[in-house]
Amino acid sequence: CGIVGYIGQQDSKEILLRGLEKLEYRGYDSAGIAAINEKGVHIFKEKGRIAVLRESVDASVVATTGIGHTRWATHGVPSRVNAHPHQSTSGRFTLVHNGVIENYSILKREYLQNVTLLSDTDTEVVVQVIETFVNKGLEVEEAFRQTLSILKGSYAIGLIDEQNPDLIYVAKNKSPLLVGLGDGSFNVIASDAMAMLQVTDQFVELMDKEMVFVSRESVTIKNLKGEVIERAPYKAELDA
Ligand code: GLU
Repeated sequence: CGIVGYIGQQDSKEILLRGLEKLEYRGYDSAGIAAINEKGVHIFKEKGRIAVLRESVDASVVATTGIGHTRWATHGVPSRVNAHPHQSTSGRFTLVHNGVIENYSILKREYLQNVTLLSDTDTEVVVQVIETFVNKGLEVEEAFRQTLSILKGSYAIGLIDEQNPDLIYVAKNKSPLLVGLGDGSFNVIASDAMAMLQVTDQFVELMDKEMVFVSRESVTIKNLKGEVIERAPYKAELDA
């Protein structure tokens, strides 16, 4: 399983699909991408091979921000509905996740009494809790931070907000995730540097329980207290 993300000037779809192909070696049962442009969020997801996903992608959708996922099912059977990305009820938030949310049933009981879940995944609970917090009046960054602070288990997360196509929200705990630095006009995320060597060899390591705000021009890492963390990139020496 794996995660990729791109925010830049080019159409994201092909970069995401190629990135996911590089992560195929990690194993998966389904795959999906979400691409966001001024018309909204476009989701393509399928059970089975990335080749099947590739067939389902509408080439006429052009979007310079996107996230992608290969799933290794832990909660909910492999199916199109359970494949990531998952969306909040209003469709505003779209999320990909690798790992296991151990306390998902507690979170569901505590925060999502009035929410109808569309999938059987632990993951959907995360995106629904974020929306619930935003609906209560929190800023998105604060809703994201508070959601992360109540999660138990492992996660690599990429999140997009339909109301802000210029940012990818990222977080990790006990699941791999890296940020790849572009030339100042784009940035990427990936579970493994190999997936994004197609566009950069400069990566920033992330530590557990950090959240990252990735725009075209900048990458801001914070801890769950909201304090900014500075970390230098390294050059990935791998064969693409
Ligand atoms: N636990 C999540 C699910 O079953 C994510 C699995 C993964 O790491 O791909 O959908």
